[in-house]
Amino acid sequence: MFSCRNCRNPIALRHDLLSKAFIAKSGQAYMFAHAMNVVLGNKEGKQLMTGLFSVCNIYCSKCGENLGWKYVRAYEARQSFKEGKFIIEKARILKEYA
Ligand SMILES: [Zn+2]
Repeated sequence: MFSCRNCRNPIALRHDLLSKAFIAKSGQAYMFAHAMNVVLGNKEGKQLMTGLFSVCNIYCSKCGENLGWKYVRAYEARQSFKEGKFIIEKARILKEYA
């Protein structure tokens, strides 16, 4: 299980981890199929290395820490597998064995 580094709120499950090969501002980031106990921010356009996406920032529901973002829509068909997925920065979460 992965939890918020700040307040240990459970955020995502190990079996929902899809990829560790993402890069965010703070460094490595993970892609998850689902996330829990998060609050979505406003939708915004974001130009990433792989193209233009519509994304929402995601925040911890307990402490409000910005954890990463959720892909809402991809504007390129070959990136559409990312839609609905969550990108969470490794530096913001803790791996826990519970
Ligand atoms: Zn938190």
